[in-house]
Amino acid sequence: MDGSKNTTALILKREPYREDDSLVTVYTLDFGKLSLIARGTRKLRSKLAGHLEPLTLSEIMIISGKGLDYIGSALGREVYQPIRQDLNKLHYAGRAISIFSRLVKDSEPDRRLFFLIVDWLAALNSFEDLSSESGDLLLAFFALRLLGELGYKPEMYKCLDCGKSVKPGRNYFNLLNGGVVCEACFLKESGRIGFQVTNILTISDNCVKIVRFILENEEGRILRMKIDKKYLKELSFLVESLLNFYF
Ligand SMILES: [Zn+2]
Repeated sequence: MDGSKNTTALILKREPYREDDSLVTVYTLDFGKLSLIARGTRKLRSKLAGHLEPLTLSEIMIISGKGLDYIGSALGREVYQPIRQDLNKLHYAGRAISIFSRLVKDSEPDRRLFFLIVDWLAALNSFEDLSSESGDLLLAFFALRLLGELGYKPEMYKCLDCGKSVKPGRNYFNLLNGGVVCEACFLKESGRIGFQVTNILTISDNCVKIVRFILENEEGRILRMKIDKKYLKELSFLVESLLNFYF
């Protein structure tokens, strides 16, 4: 068929559009993030609707439209049943999908991003008895990796200002520039006019170590880490602050 193309798509969001249609936001393997119209999916007898539920991996056919393109056909390949049946898992999947949708730009294909979220969902899907600690850690892993892929990998080894290796002790994290600042530089910087304390968090030595470990290791190893709740909270706050700062 002319003007049609096939790809694999993770369904991120679906919202009502006009009378019977939906507007579906997907992240595709070949074309990146797209907003597509799914015709008739708000009718009760729609055959398409079930394959275009958010949190479904589907094979879709995209057909060029005058305005927005639309979905010609869709076939669900993975519905992540274990995630859907577990409210705790569903919460983390929802958070990851929302972060991903917010950070990733439209129409920029990137297979690494596609597999980052698809592999992450697969890991969450197969996780046995997910505790909120493991969930928080898994989500922090996802967000830090995503930031890295998008060019915002935090600098955790050298002070952003003086370039010296970060040593244990009193260190800070500069949200604006995305990395650790040593105490000497922080004190120098904080005396300057226009210094914004809202850009700065303190960061513990343990949190520095955890972020380094997350940036360098795969999920399996990360989930075997035993982290004190206090540091997990610090990690989650740091990641959340970074996400809010950039996007
Ligand atoms: Zn420094």
